[in-house]
Amino acid sequence: MADYRTINAASLTEVVRAIVKAGGSTDREAELVSTNLVEANLKGHDSHGVGMIPRYIESVKEGGLTLNGHVSVVMDAGVMLTLDGNQGYGQVMGYEAMELAAERAKRNGVCVMGLSNAHHIGRIGHWAEQCIGHGLVSIHFVNVISRPIVAPWGGGDGRHGTNPFCVGIPRPGKDPIVLDFATSKIAQGKTRVAHNKGVELAPGTIIDSEGKPTTNPRYTVVPPYGAILPFGEHKGSGMALICELLGGALSGGVTAKGPADGRRQVINGMFSILVDPNKMGTGENLAKEMEGYVAWHIGSPPAPGVDHVQIAGEPERAWKKQRLAEGVPVDPTTWEEIIAAGAKVGLEKAAIEKIAA
Ligand code: NAD
Repeated sequence: MADYRTINAASLTEVVRAIVKAGGSTDREAELVSTNLVEANLKGHDSHGVGMIPRYIESVKEGGLTLNGHVSVVMDAGVMLTLDGNQGYGQVMGYEAMELAAERAKRNGVCVMGLSNAHHIGRIGHWAEQCIGHGLVSIHFVNVISRPIVAPWGGGDGRHGTNPFCVGIPRPGKDPIVLDFATSKIAQGKTRVAHNKGVELAPGTIIDSEGKPTTNPRYTVVPPYGAILPFGEHKGSGMALICELLGGALSGGVTAKGPADGRRQVINGMFSILVDPNKMGTGENLAKEMEGYVAWHIGSPPAPGVDHVQIAGEPERAWKKQRLAEGVPVDPTTWEEIIAAGAKVGLEKAAIEKIAA
């Protein structure tokens, strides 16, 4: 990481906040976007961190991202909530959607929510963590409308996005469980990082533009495009299909169709189920059984080369501890792209460098 620069989280947040604000957003919008992106970096998911800002600004400029929008309520039956994200910043739409759904889940014990048509909502674990803050279990199925980059199992080209799935479970007095992953073998951002570094991908990760296995990451970054393979073979592919149908259709949104039109817009649809374990009458049982089971689960003897068995959410907490102490590493390509994004909204490089310093 020789030419990476390390920026402390607070300064990096200020950089993103300044760019988003200069792009025309209110203070509140700039706050929600900047804290969400830097939190993804802190949690170790650079693919969903500040490196997204250049794409967001391009999307604003193209008219694919509406500034200072809010979710609109399409249907509200208390336990069922259907929302439209109006192509607004996903960090705002996700936050507003979760607050509305959480209020209903606290009141009724459950809320089944569909959010359609939001611009990129980033790291889905962020929304599970918001629900955990309200004491709620949550399950999220998400689809992605952008260039289809993941092949179905047995297929030879991209037919959908990296369609993430996420579950959050609060643990009273303990760190929560947050399972949050893309249903592709690896995240698209990770193939871009490999391409920028000039390194090969592991065999069995992607296919080339003729549907043949390759380890060259170029096929996911520059045309002619290949595709990323689904995780978990036919099972992961089936899960991606379910994310597409629940996140993209049951939510009230749209599913992936045909090749992308080259625009920088990324639209997410999300179908979420929020449950209050106490209203279900099983909160105490969940807490007791969970602690017993987690202890048994992580008590498995570590495999060779493994320090200890972890639970979902633990690696992200370790990253956050380390990066809060040491700062967030930003690769030179990403930093140049952030500077260029600032220039597009009238922020001088010197001003950005000053904030980062
Ligand atoms: P990943 O492969 O790093 O998997 C992360 C999950 O696995 C986390 O729950 C983590 O706690 C758990 N995990 C990791 N190592 C573990 C270990 N050793 N033991 C136990 N659990 C472990 O994640 P990914 O697939 O690269 O996804 C990265 C992020 O990208 C996610 O936050 C996802 O929501 C996001 N994403 C967003 C979109 C979108 O369109 N908004 C699309 C795809 C992915």
